[in-house]
Amino acid sequence: MEVNEVIAKTALSKSNLPSLDYSLNPYRGCSHACTYCYAPFVLREKRAWGEFVDVKINLPSVLARELSTKQKGTIGIGTVTDPYQPIEKKYELTRKCLEALLKKDWPISIQTKSDLVLRDLDLIKKFREKDIGFTITTLDDGARKRFEPHSSSIPARLNALEETSRKGIKTWVFLGPIIPDLIGETLEDLIKGLGEIGIDHLLFDKLRIKPGMKGFSEYRRTDYGRIENEIKELCSKYKVKCQQAF
Ligand code: SF4
Repeated sequence: MEVNEVIAKTALSKSNLPSLDYSLNPYRGCSHACTYCYAPFVLREKRAWGEFVDVKINLPSVLARELSTKQKGTIGIGTVTDPYQPIEKKYELTRKCLEALLKKDWPISIQTKSDLVLRDLDLIKKFREKDIGFTITTLDDGARKRFEPHSSSIPARLNALEETSRKGIKTWVFLGPIIPDLIGETLEDLIKGLGEIGIDHLLFDKLRIKPGMKGFSEYRRTDYGRIENEIKELCSKYKVKCQQAF
């Protein structure tokens, strides 16, 4: 893994994602190395995704400055990288950004695949408006290793989701992208489990094949209409509020 310490000029960027005003990404690159990751496409990144991380070492101070001048809005943390990928243990950039955000009490929405987020629940709890979304694409940890090789295991993620929920922090789950060989036969058990945990809502999305993504063309034939209907039916059965991502 190539790690580069870099200097960031800006911290917040305008977000086009629904319900977010800004995005904040403490790292560029992501060692979770999900094979379906859209981020290199979004960022027009040519380096091998999953094999490098740029660490924006001055980001917390740049952010603190911007928070004094920009109009307050909801910040999505981790829109094109996982803010709790393993290197966060060493640099604590996400934590330091949270400390700056808490001083001004800006609304935050965190998205992760990592149970390292548990480390920061003490801070996150103190925000007035906050939520944490966990991406969970399957219950099959063998399939997870194939598609999301260096991410937290499914049991670790479920445990983090449960613990976050228990602490009274609003949680949601992103089931996406839906890939038949990843979700396998686990869809019903997954949605049933999310109902038991009591998440706020489930967001789901089909696989969107981007230029340069290799090994996914076989999924072009997937009947996503059928899968989406199945998700809606299961969510109604297990009382989980659900919504399609785009
Ligand atoms: S965790 Fe997210 S940003 Fe990181 S490789 Fe996976 S999909 Fe991409």
